[in-house]
Amino acid sequence: MRRKLAAGNWKMNGTSADLGQIEALAAAHSGAISEIMIAPPHTLLHRASEFTKTGPITLGAQDCHKRESGAHTGDISADMLLDAGASYVILGHSERRTEHDEHDEDVRGKARAALKAGLRVIICMGEELEEREADNTLDIIGGQLAGSIPDDISGETLVVAYEPIWAIGTGKVPTIAQISEVHDFIRARLAKRFGPQVARSIRLLYGGSVKPANAAEIFAVDNVDGALVGGASLTAQDFSPIIAALDAS
Ligand code: PEP
Repeated sequence: MRRKLAAGNWKMNGTSADLGQIEALAAAHSGAISEIMIAPPHTLLHRASEFTKTGPITLGAQDCHKRESGAHTGDISADMLLDAGASYVILGHSERRTEHDEHDEDVRGKARAALKAGLRVIICMGEELEEREADNTLDIIGGQLAGSIPDDISGETLVVAYEPIWAIGTGKVPTIAQISEVHDFIRARLAKRFGPQVARSIRLLYGGSVKPANAAEIFAVDNVDGALVGGASLTAQDFSPIIAALDAS
């Protein structure tokens, strides 16, 4: 049985003044059925861990380097994230792929480093609007799945997030049929590569403009095991109803 996951990606938002949001979420969801993950900026990880040592929330980071240590100014290793309190790392987010020119092989290298350090990985993938309009979505997702995910994963350590790039931060959301088609496709491709038992245990998240108003409908889709949420994860007020909808699904 896959445990549902509500994952919040704070991106480049948040200072110590925002730690209260994590504290409030932890208090509001002490009995959560779903797992809750917040990925604040690296600067807040250690302090946020004060509110996540016990309780329903786990911490994630938003990127890591593929090397364990060394001369990589400004970068951060998987070991450092673990040391700061993270148990997950988000990899291959479209903003990393676009703004930092990350390709599938970079994501795979980072994922290997993260798994070696003992982190779980949330590997993101999604199509551009032109790719969807040209009916290439499944080809794009198939390529990203094959290229970004290393071989040595398990249902415990891998989460896949389907995030259509045109839906991130735009308020646009694919139809339920489109979400369903891609999630079914991802599950089938994972089964082909890792076997049906492992594939059944991997959680698949939908990401892209998930809000309190649309969460329940999205969570009712087969093969959607939760969400990766950007903007609506920044405050407990917005994220809380999304977690409640996931618990109720
Ligand atoms: C994201 O950045 O992963 C995301 C889904 O953002 P938003 O929820 O703001 O669209």
